[in-house]
Amino acid sequence: MNANDRAFTLCSRKETTYVCGKSLEDFFEAIEHFHGWIAPGIVLGGFMVDLAREHVGPDVEADAIVETCHCLPDAVQIFTPCTVGNGWLKILNWDKFALSLYDRRTLSGCRVWLDIEKAKGFPNLYNWYMRLVPKKDLPLKTLLETILDAGRSAFSCRPIRITRLSKREKKGDTAICSGCGEAYPTNQGNICAACQGEGYYEVSAAR
Ligand SMILES: [Zn+2]
Repeated sequence: MNANDRAFTLCSRKETTYVCGKSLEDFFEAIEHFHGWIAPGIVLGGFMVDLAREHVGPDVEADAIVETCHCLPDAVQIFTPCTVGNGWLKILNWDKFALSLYDRRTLSGCRVWLDIEKAKGFPNLYNWYMRLVPKKDLPLKTLLETILDAGRSAFSCRPIRITRLSKREKKGDTAICSGCGEAYPTNQGNICAACQGEGYYEVSAAR
């Protein structure tokens, strides 16, 4: 049985559970489709988005900020219209399991985080998040069951007002780099970032 099937066997147990407006089956399927497998962090993130969404209100156009690169960005991209590409989702590389949704006009919103004190009430969840148990000793099905049992119980949330990062980045002026001949934003300087030594590649021989 693959991870997907294992997760689906959980669905029958929780037929009345809806997350982000989806039945559990659709919820898991959306995660698997986008992320490739049903990662526990995204399942958890889905419940967080659901909670934040409820506080912000259904009719509000909300932007998102997540505080880790791991899993949470995908939860936001799956269950809200906010993506990295459209600029409505911003990612902080803090490795804190927290996210905020906020009204893009009033800047007021809600921050939801995994409350580690509350998570202690769900030892599998706590041990997984704190990396206290080797993966082989905590099967995915068991962890997913715990996450479903926990639902929102391991989160805390607070109303917030956004003070930074709410600006949607506008593209600045564009010029042609004299080093590589490619278009680049002039706010990088006289030549592009790659030609200034920030490049992440060297060119291989043509095949
Ligand atoms: Zn260049």
